[in-house]
Amino acid sequence: MELTVIWATKIFLAFLFTRTLVQAYLDLRHQRHIWINRKQVPAPFDRSGGIGLEDHQKAVTYSMEKIKTGKVFRTVHLLILLAWTLAGGLELFTQWAAKANDLFPSLASPILEGLCLFILFSLVELLLNLPESIYYTFVIEAKFGFNRTTPKIFVIDLFKGLAVSAVIGLPFASLLLWLMMTFVGSWWWIGFICTTLFQVLLIWAYPTLIAPLFNKFTPLEEGETKAQIEDLLEKTKLPFKGLFVMDASKRTAHGNAYFTGFGKARRIVFFDTLLKSLSPAEMRAILAHEIGHYKKHHLIKGLLISIVSTFIGFYLLGVLAEWPTFFIAHGVKTITLGGTLLLFTLVAPVYTFFFVPLGNLISRKHEYEADQFAAQHADPEDLVNGLIKLYRENASTLTPDPVYSAFYYSHPPAVERARALLSKSSNHS
Ligand SMILES: [Zn+2]
Repeated sequence: MELTVIWATKIFLAFLFTRTLVQAYLDLRHQRHIWINRKQVPAPFDRSGGIGLEDHQKAVTYSMEKIKTGKVFRTVHLLILLAWTLAGGLELFTQWAAKANDLFPSLASPILEGLCLFILFSLVELLLNLPESIYYTFVIEAKFGFNRTTPKIFVIDLFKGLAVSAVIGLPFASLLLWLMMTFVGSWWWIGFICTTLFQVLLIWAYPTLIAPLFNKFTPLEEGETKAQIEDLLEKTKLPFKGLFVMDASKRTAHGNAYFTGFGKARRIVFFDTLLKSLSPAEMRAILAHEIGHYKKHHLIKGLLISIVSTFIGFYLLGVLAEWPTFFIAHGVKTITLGGTLLLFTLVAPVYTFFFVPLGNLISRKHEYEADQFAAQHADPEDLVNGLIKLYRENASTLTPDPVYSAFYYSHPPAVERARALLSKSSNHS
């Protein structure tokens, strides 16, 4: 027993160490690559109406600053993880949470204990993560002119976020704890089914019930942009009615557009920041790309992948919950139902980190497919021009390191997307 524990701890530390090394190595490559390419705007963005050298260098400084800060906070997160696990933080909190049963003897149960543990843990995590989000919002984003969040909005968001996670999270956590208590041995697959149903419910509820708590959504106004979009929707035979503009400018100057929900709650959302900067034809091209995702079933495929990963996660959780070595090796001596769920969610990312590139590979393939679809239903030149504006206004780097982007990027680098699109457009003419 002792020996297995020591080995399991060693494996945990080995994964943690390798992850840290890989992260540091990728950062180093990325920084060097961006720095070496700082003096020249890459083709095809160096053309007139493309990205100027000044904007390119703003993106260089912005990226460098983010990587530098990212390293600092990643180290902090690593220390926090070690504090929760091997240093005994989670064990200590488990013992504190157990006191809830003494305080409320009539309610005493593993569910009460588990919920107390989740609440304690979440509040401490929130406080520990606060410096990072404050620094990003009010220092980095502000320095580069992107931040529009006021301290007041920031604090309100924080409390709204807490309230939403309590309303959604606590009942769901109680359900999982109850399943674990009642169906010993088989709870994991029932838990998987409940989680999947819950996930689908959230996708449905998000656009109409949750997102409006944080932003205002107004129907897209009549005009050239709407005319272009409706024409496109008709040509691609999409019976969409919900075209909405979101007041993203309340918090940030970054622009975006997305598809969300399903059934009657389905909608297309444009950030107001995007509408301000793109021409109607460029908006059409960007939307054609989003429709491409829809038509090529990327949303469903994404959901399926997530369901399969949830299944694997629950299966492993079911196995590990029966194996005391797992707990002791990660610094938890008192095994409780709540502690089982928490420890698993805390350490799983250490082991799954090495699957990140696989998920991103699939995502990038989908992006190319959506671009191809867009090129058939809009002018590829317009999409490239839209991309140029997006990259310029978001100060996103044009010259990421190829290995770094292969590992972390869910979207292909802009240069590669533009080249693929432009080769498409020259084929057409
Ligand atoms: Zn896309």
